[in-house]
Amino acid sequence: MESITFGVLTISDTCWQEPAKDTSGPILRQLITETFANTQVIGNIVPDEKDLIQQELRKWIDREELRVILTTGGTGFAPRDVTPEATRQLLEKECPQLSMYITLESIKQTQYAALSRGICGIAGNTLILNLPGSEKAVKECFQTIRELLPHAVHLIGDDVSLVRKTHAEFQGSAQKGHICPHKTGTGTYSDRNSPFPMLAVQEVLSIIFNTVQKTANLDKILLEMSAPVNIPPFRASIKDGYAMKSTGFSGSKRVLGCIAAGDSPNTLPLAEDECYKINTGAPLPLEADCVVQVEDTKLLQLDKNGQESLVDIMVEPQAGLDVRPVGYDLSTNDRIFPALDPSPVVVKSLLASVGNRLVLSKPKVAIVSTGSELCSPRDQLTPGKIFDSNTTMLTELLVYFGFNCMHTCVLSDSFEKTKESLLELFGVVDFVICSGGVSMGDKDFVKSVLEDLQFTIHCGRVNIKPGKPMTFASRNNKYFFGLPGNPVSAFVTFHLFALPAIRFAAGWDRCKCSLSVVNVKVGSNQFNHIVKLC
Ligand code: AMP
Ligand code: MG
Repeated sequence: MESITFGVLTISDTCWQEPAKDTSGPILRQLITETFANTQVIGNIVPDEKDLIQQELRKWIDREELRVILTTGGTGFAPRDVTPEATRQLLEKECPQLSMYITLESIKQTQYAALSRGICGIAGNTLILNLPGSEKAVKECFQTIRELLPHAVHLIGDDVSLVRKTHAEFQGSAQKGHICPHKTGTGTYSDRNSPFPMLAVQEVLSIIFNTVQKTANLDKILLEMSAPVNIPPFRASIKDGYAMKSTGFSGSKRVLGCIAAGDSPNTLPLAEDECYKINTGAPLPLEADCVVQVEDTKLLQLDKNGQESLVDIMVEPQAGLDVRPVGYDLSTNDRIFPALDPSPVVVKSLLASVGNRLVLSKPKVAIVSTGSELCSPRDQLTPGKIFDSNTTMLTELLVYFGFNCMHTCVLSDSFEKTKESLLELFGVVDFVICSGGVSMGDKDFVKSVLEDLQFTIHCGRVNIKPGKPMTFASRNNKYFFGLPGNPVSAFVTFHLFALPAIRFAAGWDRCKCSLSVVNVKVGSNQFNHIVKLC
């Protein structure tokens, strides 16, 4: 089953008080993870209180990725047993046959199963099943439903292709106990299914982050850096106004001169009834301790040269008013990066602000397009050919995200040529982002070339559409992304997999490497799918 989340809710007053007594919840969680690869399971315990049960169920139903909730407990005849009543009010559709099937199978084990009142139904895109509370019962019930769950989830999610696939597999095969609707085969003449397991997107990302090495230990270098200077290096005026002594009160003051940004600090004596006209960013005179903004003053007199000679200070000067003290933003020897910021813009500009010009190395990347049908957009199109758009798209995407493309090359569908070129490119670059040639066609040589070059193929199939054949391989800190040739697939898989990997290698924090994900509900007459937009 594709990556989904299960919720296991234990409903029991006793377990609520003493969670260690909950054995059915942990058993169910274990059974789920053992049965379905790539699934997450969350668990919780609530007492036999209708409101609290509903509160927890509602929270879980609202989570898009949480597709199945198994409750255990509270289904009997005791006065406090209210699980079915709490569940029923949240359901949009009841599934009585499912609960009947569970009951019929359970009755084969014990007649007491007839005393369980558990119900099943659908709320939003979540299937909820009430199972009894005993360990033995949850084990038996889980065995009963385990094969039905993937298909039920696909049906609820309106995942037409997976539903069809499951139907076909169940109708065409006598194979019992088959749960995963994605076949994995040998890829040979007799078995034409891809030999690569279908991995969930999150699983592929974990593999990528666990495989790719950061080119420099940028984090360490940056975290250890301390400021060699103060920012600001002098007491700087925050406003255009007049610098003076705060002890001198408001009223008229003689203007001794003008101090502009960039002037060196004035060290001349300053009386309380004197001031300097000063600009934003200019250094305060040594004896001044505040600035009164120009809006709070009035010009009283100009001298014979047209320069200001007397102003009225209309507010009481306050010590430190509109002055940035030395080192206010950053003091000498302070850590420049108390925490890591992965944005090269932030890193570089902060380093520039303390006069440091650390050159941040970036991963070296090559873009390769494969396909004998490809023709450069600069050339004349001949019959049977199409213009190569992936080279341009992937190169531009790299630049768009702040990386450079060191090489581009277009290869025909030839094992030898592909092998030769990859070998040569990996002598120079860290990453090859290749498009085309990773599917199941007899001219798709990329995966076999990688195997021949002794690369480890970490992922040969990923559970998304478009982008299923996306391939990720590595050897000795060299990384290969084989994106499907279809330009839309290549575009999607670049953003989902190649970009996070390159960012990670460049020293970005793992949690910031992927683009933001926004869940949206798309409604139309025929479809009501949940899609993820990047
Ligand atoms: P492939 O992944 O090699 O099977 O290619 C899938 C589809 O994408 C085919 O229709 C190719 O012609 C097309 N395609 C492959 N590479 C490119 C490219 N560089 N530019 C535009 N279309 C491409
Ligand atoms: Mg091709």
